[in-house]
Amino acid sequence: MSDPLTVLCVTGWCRNGSTIIGNVLNEVPGFFHVGELHFLWKNATGRGVNDRCGCGEALTGCPVWSTVLPIGRPDGTSPDAHAATVIRRQWSRVRTRHTWRVLRRGLYDDEIRAHADLMGRVYHGIAERTGARVIVDTTKIPGEAALLAHLPGVRPYYVHLVRDPRAVAHSWREPKQYVYAMSAARSTGYWHGFNRASAAITRRYPDRSMFLRYEQFTADPAGTVDALLRLCAADPAGNPVRDRTVHLHTNHTVTGNPDRFRTGPTLIRDSDDGWRRTLSPGRRWAATALAWPLFGRYGYRSPGPAPATVGSTSDNGR
Ligand SMILES: [Zn+2]
Repeated sequence: MSDPLTVLCVTGWCRNGSTIIGNVLNEVPGFFHVGELHFLWKNATGRGVNDRCGCGEALTGCPVWSTVLPIGRPDGTSPDAHAATVIRRQWSRVRTRHTWRVLRRGLYDDEIRAHADLMGRVYHGIAERTGARVIVDTTKIPGEAALLAHLPGVRPYYVHLVRDPRAVAHSWREPKQYVYAMSAARSTGYWHGFNRASAAITRRYPDRSMFLRYEQFTADPAGTVDALLRLCAADPAGNPVRDRTVHLHTNHTVTGNPDRFRTGPTLIRDSDDGWRRTLSPGRRWAATALAWPLFGRYGYRSPGPAPATVGSTSDNGR
């Protein structure tokens, strides 16, 4: 039997910087960043907020996704009806609230077995079409992440990625192209729930998991990529970061931060303190208080750590 396919899975709450990290890893030989694969069926059938691949094509016209979308679709079933089935299973079996059940009981009924079967075939289909040895998935939804360990022929590695909840709340203040706005309290409520569920996964699989603060990545992008390569036993010689700069080529991300369309030499800056200038004291308080006690456990301090972070632009989350 051939070696299992490696999937490097990033979990955590949205706007945590996963898109830029995924796109940097996309430059490692043998790695392929799919963006947020969970949303492929939704976005390809007009149900999502955007329908573009990172390559600029519609998902249904992209050379990668146009050939992946038919995988697992029964004969005689329309793309729209198939997508509706996939979305129903995602909603009923692998949302964040289902994470603990998937960890505890695995493939416990026909619906979750059907979803696992599809996802296994999709990951292998992507590898066959792209030649990838490592698929980087920045979906971030912990229920999907927990399911990965049950897919046949797949070996998952987990990165629990956290970003200062005040920076995340700042990012959610304004709608970003196709992503709506969210209050600081609501953003931080989700931050808490997604991070608790992500921590449950990494506790379950400690030997193939890593906790990462986004601020660590922007403080030392090359060193962080080294650590990520070590995590999944990849050759460190493939690290594409030189002097904080990475040359980004076209990618095929399903969705993510609008910066995913950026290509060319990209500087990863060590500053992510926009929230200090513009996030009101009330919003800061809400983000800090609601994130407690994880806020302190993750190494964040009030009024905040020294300026750290963001990538090539002012906001790299989602
Ligand atoms: Zn594409």
